[in-house]
Amino acid sequence: MLKENLATVEEKIQNACIRAGRNRDEVTLISVSKTKPVSMLMEAYDLGVRVFGENKVQEIRDKYEAMPKDVEWHMIGHLQTNKVKYILDKVKLIHSVDSEKLAETIEKEGEKRNLISDILIEVNVAQETSKFGLKTEDVLPFYEKVCALPHVNVRGLMTIAPFVENPENNRSIFADLHKLYVDIKRKNIDNGTVSILSMGMTNDYEVAIEEGATMVRIGTGIFGARDYGLQ
Ligand SMILES: *Cc1c(COP(=O)(O)O)cnc(C)c1O
Repeated sequence: MLKENLATVEEKIQNACIRAGRNRDEVTLISVSKTKPVSMLMEAYDLGVRVFGENKVQEIRDKYEAMPKDVEWHMIGHLQTNKVKYILDKVKLIHSVDSEKLAETIEKEGEKRNLISDILIEVNVAQETSKFGLKTEDVLPFYEKVCALPHVNVRGLMTIAPFVENPENNRSIFADLHKLYVDIKRKNIDNGTVSILSMGMTNDYEVAIEEGATMVRIGTGIFGARDYGLQ
């Protein structure tokens, strides 16, 4: 099942790239393995998957220990400041930085460990009250502040779009985030390190790629539905 799912996702990514006139290598697939057992991650690993997304600190810690060391871990979920210290040296990228307090904690813990962390700023483009993330209008000033932190390296923006039946309904959200991404890139504060736009999930990643996503985060489409009841 995993093999077929990965092939289907890969084909859809390729086709979306073609439609958008983009190269396939401009888009990184993050396989979102949250709630799934290590055995299933290993099955994906054996099929060539090396980039995994998780949304819980404890799960990253456990899976980090259990999986081969050439895996790239992406923290895509809400991160509490008191847990930063557990994952800073384990993750390639934190997608979910949404407050000054969190950015400052990453700075402080990074300084202790002599470690510069790559992060994305999470934007709540749709302004859903249920979701984390900055308001669009707060992103530029926040970006400028975070750029002043020597152990925090802003690589781009991330959003979680609303769940919609028709992915076309999220197109304008992706286009808006892309616009903001281009604005920030132009500012060029951190010497051109902004190059990541993380948007698109199982339900809407093709539209996200058409609108400029450089990372798509796909869980269900690869690993199947999640059963939170068994947690
Ligand atoms: C769970 C999750 C995903 C993947 O969702 P699917 O709809 O299963 O593809 C992507 N991004 C974030 C932040 C998530 O929490």
